[in-house]
Amino acid sequence: MRLDLRGIINEAGTAPFDFETDLSGMSFDSIAGFLSPLRASGRVTNSAGVLTLTGKASVSLLCVCDRCGAEFRSDREIELNAVLSGELQDRENPDIYPLEDGWADLDEIVFTAFVFSLESKTLCREGCLGVCPGCGKNLNDGPCACKPEADSRLAVLKQLLSE
Ligand SMILES: [Zn+2]
Ligand SMILES: [Zn+2]
Repeated sequence: MRLDLRGIINEAGTAPFDFETDLSGMSFDSIAGFLSPLRASGRVTNSAGVLTLTGKASVSLLCVCDRCGAEFRSDREIELNAVLSGELQDRENPDIYPLEDGWADLDEIVFTAFVFSLESKTLCREGCLGVCPGCGKNLNDGPCACKPEADSRLAVLKQLLSE
């Protein structure tokens, strides 16, 4: 969505926004699908000559656990905070979003915030046990039938005791 800020570029004021953007064509590591569009709402405020965007975005994701490979639903809330500027020289600063003829490209701002909110490791739960390297069973569903000798620390202990 493009937001018209021409009315508040040069004077104090607020421009609200509320829109959805479809990310289903995007592909990300650890995301199997989007269960909802990305919904964003908030406002851009001109305060003392600085245009600040604040708000929230939310989306439901179908994630893939990096450790056990299970798919799971994850509802995300993302804080939106950005500074916008109509000044051409600010295009040098990547933290400040430029305006185009007084319009802001909110899709870019929200999409950037979403990408930065993604964690480097996606886990289905804290302390996910992963899969057994021997038989491939998902250990979150319970222990597998593999022999405990697979535990190298135990093997070392046994060796120490037998000496
Ligand atoms: Zn997992
Ligand atoms: Zn196993």
